[in-house]
Amino acid sequence: MITIGVLGIQGAVSEHIDKLRSFNEVKAIVVKTKEELNLVQGIIIPGGESTAIGKLLEDFSLIEPLRERIEKGLPVWGTCAGMILLAKKISKDPKAYLKVMNIEVKRNAYGSQLESFQEQKIIKEISKEPIPIVFIRAPYVERIWGTVDILAEVDGKIVACREKNMLATSFHPELTEDLSFHKYFVEMIS
Ligand code: GLN
Repeated sequence: MITIGVLGIQGAVSEHIDKLRSFNEVKAIVVKTKEELNLVQGIIIPGGESTAIGKLLEDFSLIEPLRERIEKGLPVWGTCAGMILLAKKISKDPKAYLKVMNIEVKRNAYGSQLESFQEQKIIKEISKEPIPIVFIRAPYVERIWGTVDILAEVDGKIVACREKNMLATSFHPELTEDLSFHKYFVEMIS
């Protein structure tokens, strides 16, 4: 049995918990405290509002303990706002939060006309079949360095990438019927 946490401060928390509960070998818990963080072997940082999640992480003194565990190898997956929180750099913004992943992200990168959109895409490392990818006021990755591998691009923009124990997606697999990204993350842990 592996215990996977979903950071439960704000955003699409229950959707990730529901997906994780589809796997027999996974116990899924909501993480809001340092004690709960100590129980998990992997953590998902969900979509939501990165400024709100970031501020609450600071208020709850969770930035340092979370950063420390990720730097020691805790598998982490950030979806959308979660990707922004992992980034070492947010474009045109002096602020960054966990600063663990060698990516520069652009927030709300698709502009207001394109608040949300969906498409089907084959992502080689994840699944042989096309999978639905849903974007909601999504960021994309403008720049990578270090040991980041690109997993998926849409219109030449990076929307999924991995660096060692860290996975980041601009989109929301937890809002679709498809389980392949969650399966990939479970396999990253086990
Ligand atoms: N636009 C949000 C932000 O900047 C992210 C949106 C999402 O997570 N769906 O934090």
